[in-house]
Order: sequence, then C-alpha cells, then structure tokens
Amino acid sequence: MCEKRRKELLSVIAPCYNEEDVIELFQRETQAELEKLDKDKYDYEIILVNDGSRDRTLELLMDMAEKDKRMKYISFSRNFGKEAAMLAALEHAKGDCAVILDADLQHPPQLIHQMLELYHSGYDQVIAKRSRSGDSKRSTFFARLYYKLVNKLVDVEMVDGAGDFRLLSRAAIDAVISLKETNRFSKGIFSWVGFHQTYLEYENQLRASGETKWSFKSLLRYGIDGILSFNVQPLRICVYGGSALLLLSIMYLIYLFVRILQHGIDVPGYFTTILIITIFSGVQLISIGIIGEYVGRIYAEVKKRPMYLIAKTNIDKEEQ
Ligand code: UDP
Ligand code: MG
Repeated sequence: MCEKRRKELLSVIAPCYNEEDVIELFQRETQAELEKLDKDKYDYEIILVNDGSRDRTLELLMDMAEKDKRMKYISFSRNFGKEAAMLAALEHAKGDCAVILDADLQHPPQLIHQMLELYHSGYDQVIAKRSRSGDSKRSTFFARLYYKLVNKLVDVEMVDGAGDFRLLSRAAIDAVISLKETNRFSKGIFSWVGFHQTYLEYENQLRASGETKWSFKSLLRYGIDGILSFNVQPLRICVYGGSALLLLSIMYLIYLFVRILQHGIDVPGYFTTILIITIFSGVQLISIGIIGEYVGRIYAEVKKRPMYLIAKTNIDKEEQ
C-alpha cells in the first residue's frame, strides 16, 4: 500500500498592534512568497494576532480571513503586548514549524525559503539576525552597550540583532509554550530552550508604514525586563530615586569639599559623616528597588493570571 506522504504545514505568525496601514501589504507580500513554495510538499496557514488595536486592524484581519481560509486571526480583549501575542499564535499554530514575523514588513518574508532550507538540514531554530544599517546612532550605541552588559549579567546568551524573527521547529514551539512564566522576555526564552540553532543574516529594513510602538522609555523598560527577567512601577521608582539621590549627594559633596578647601573646616567630622550617610542611602535605595523588582515579579507569577484573553478568533479549538 502506498501511503500518500503527508504535506508539511508551515505556520506563519505575526503580532499586530495598530497596523491598519501596513497589514494588507504584509498579507500580500507574505502570501506571494508562500505561493512560491512547492504545493505538493507544503501547506501553510497565516496566523495574525490583533493585540488590542485601536484602529481598523481587526476589521481588516476578519476581511482577509473571510476571503481565504488559510488566514487565521486571534483578537485579544485589550493590548497584552507583543510577547503575549506571539505566545497566543504559537499556542494556536498547527504547523510542523512556524516562522514569526513582524507585521510591519521589517522582517522580509523572502527569507522564509532560506529558513526552510536550513530547517530541513536539521536545525530547530533558524534565527534571522539583522544588521543595524538605517538605525539611529543613539539606538545602535545603546543596543551594543546593552548587549554587552546583559550578556555579563544573565546566563542565557543574547545576540545583538537577533530578535523574534525566526523559524521554530515543532519541538522548539512546544518547548517555548511549555514555559508558563508571566514575565515573558522572548529573547531570553528562545535562547533558554536551546535546540540546534543557526543564524541567518539579513539587511535591516525600515518599517513599510505606520510607526514604531517603541519609545526610548519603553525600550529602557524592556531592557530592565531582560536583565531581571516586569513591570512594577512604584518599586522601580526606588531605583530611579536612589540613583538621583546618589547623584545629588555627590554634587553636594563636591560643593562641600570645595568650601572646605577655601574656608577650612568649621565642624570637624561633618564632611565625612554627611558623605557616608548620603552615599549609602542612595546605594541602599537602589538595592531595595532591585529587590522590589524581583518581589514584584514573584507577585505577578504567583497570581498566575492568563497571559492573554481572546475576544474573537476564527481558529477552531476542536481542530487542534
Ligand atoms: N506589537 C504588538 N503589541 C504591542 C507592540 C507591538 O503586537 O504592544 C507588534 C507590532 O504590531 C509589530 C511588532 O510587534 O508587528 C513589532 O513592533 P514595532 O514595529 O512597533 O517594533 P520595532 O520593529 O520598532 O522594534
Ligand atoms: Mg517594527
């Protein structure tokens, strides 16, 4: 009996937050690439996650899904963040492997072919690594500095330019979704799960349309999440407050010191007492803040809240 070989299913997934300007172009370009795949060997599905967009993104996604049954959408009840959107898509993906893309075409879908080739040569994670051409000098500088620092502090390796754009085999997908932590820092998670990995270089792409959801502040926050592996604002204020206090006290000390040089000491021991008190209060406040960060993370984990809530989807749970 000659059994017909099962076609391989490729899931292409992308998180979308306020992407009405670019989402249709994204679908056209991605689908054009997927249509080039050998139809006898591959089937594909495209899962787009609407992460609580306030524009027409959901409407557009539902439209696409109506026209093509390979287009799937999951719509959250509010904005849960890119990490939650990627997790939802991976949890709903039925593919033998999945490619994660950004909806703004910064991750060229043309790379899917090369990724599949590498996947078939035995890799479980094919990680696209971008160059930094076109980025501002400031963000390149901070990114480099950040990766240097973070790789010293954390025990998983993080590579500059390697983001969420990657292909994951079924084994890697299952591993990633088996990590149930609330504080998801996907760069760390992808690296932590391991498996056989390889890198694929690509030229940095500018956003096709719309604007980045990242401000300098959100990047800073993301950066701290990466090191402490979440977000508890009042506790973080300790860190900032401590740093500011430390800086102010150093300035005050310099002022006192210059005064002493000019006018001599009026009360002996005053300078050193102030020095010790101010510096150490600053340092202590920073330390309490850091401990607070961890306590806040533990707080978020023990609550065990779901990482996302789905308001609408065309993916049938039964089918899974
Ligand atoms: N995104 C999301 N939820 C968010 C923020 C971003 O799903 O809260 C999506 C966004 O639609 C895009 C991807 O994550 O597909 C990357 O976001 P963006 O382009 O703003 O980031 P950048 O490319 O500037 O790092
Ligand atoms: Mg982008």
